[in-house]
Amino acid sequence: MPEYWDPEIETMPVEDLKKLQEEKLKQLVHYVYERSPFYRKRFDEHGVKPEDIQTLEDVRKLPFTVKQDLRDTYPTGMFCVPNTDLARFHASSGTTGKPTVVGYTQKDIDEWAESLARGFTSVGMGENDILQVSYGYGLFTGGLGAHYGSEKLGATVLPTSSGNTERQLELMKDLDVTAIACTPSYFLYMIETARKLGISFRDETKLKIGFFGAEPWSEELKKRIEAESGIKAYDIYGTSEMSGPLFTECSAQCGIHIWADKFLVEILDPETGEPVPDGESGELVITTLTKEALPLIRYRVKDLTRKLSEPCPCGRTHPRITRISGRSDDMIIVRGINVFPGQVESVLMKIPEVGNHFMIIVDRIGPLDSMKIQIEMHESAFSDKMSDMMALKRKISGALKSVLNLAVEVELVEHGSLPRSEGKSKKVIDKRKV
Ligand SMILES: [Zn+2]
Repeated sequence: MPEYWDPEIETMPVEDLKKLQEEKLKQLVHYVYERSPFYRKRFDEHGVKPEDIQTLEDVRKLPFTVKQDLRDTYPTGMFCVPNTDLARFHASSGTTGKPTVVGYTQKDIDEWAESLARGFTSVGMGENDILQVSYGYGLFTGGLGAHYGSEKLGATVLPTSSGNTERQLELMKDLDVTAIACTPSYFLYMIETARKLGISFRDETKLKIGFFGAEPWSEELKKRIEAESGIKAYDIYGTSEMSGPLFTECSAQCGIHIWADKFLVEILDPETGEPVPDGESGELVITTLTKEALPLIRYRVKDLTRKLSEPCPCGRTHPRITRISGRSDDMIIVRGINVFPGQVESVLMKIPEVGNHFMIIVDRIGPLDSMKIQIEMHESAFSDKMSDMMALKRKISGALKSVLNLAVEVELVEHGSLPRSEGKSKKVIDKRKV
């Protein structure tokens, strides 16, 4: 099994990679300026010309782009090629506003698939693997992204999409599926369904690798998934604006490699827009270096992460980011304190009596914000004794308070009572917004 998909690029000395990025960045600014009225106007308003960009550091002279730009120019106003040159469209669900449309040339699709083929190879997946793609297919990029990446690798794809879980488990067993890609919440649902049906992942399936992403999840949840299913769980990352799922952790599992020959990463302070030092948390900002249809200049992804630049044990020289700890958009402010659902998840998943599902409910009663967390008990943890349950509640509220600096009301609910998700899960209900 090859160790690298493209050894020359993946292990290129950092200095050479930077030179390559610099060349591509210089070409990119001319490309977008000449082809996209949106970018030309944005550059002009910002007083920057393509010639001003000569080094990698000059990227900071360029204006940011944000999701709202895609909405304002709906459907294709930011594109750099005519629609007839496109090979495919995808679109966002538009749950938080007008949908956004992304487009791809054939080369864009090939490069997208190649990025994932590199990632799949980096965890030891190869052409003998069978990947069940349980991400949704369609306008969402998860399903088709993983599908094309796997085909590029030469692996076998089982395109189940999401839903119909019993059938999925049956096919997984019968076809000797070895790898799966889906949201972590859907995989939790699969684990639960398998348990109900009396199917053991360890003994009755060949599943050994899972790629989980499309929603933030914690290290603690990863450990639970591994313990409950016996597989290795890897992060997979990318957003539809960047193309779709593009990057994964490597077998060293110390961050997600971002392919530097295709993407330039900045980590910035979300408030000041200034770079934070490597290793510190900030907002991910991406410049695409090779995309043709919809190149992005300094796109503010709003995902919070840290950049790791020290060498990776796997030998790849491309920078890594840590798992996404949340989205700056997901932050809930309760009584003036910033709370991320990921922090809550990290605390809860460390407590063995707690099950895999919870829901945060924020409300305002009179002038005061209140936060309640409904927490499912672990199947084995339910006790008839009131005193046991009270003690557990106190233990959970104490653990939450020490991390969040906020007193929260804890409500323990029966196993199986919170809604399950076959796609991205909803972990917060903010009644103040209704
Ligand atoms: Zn690595």
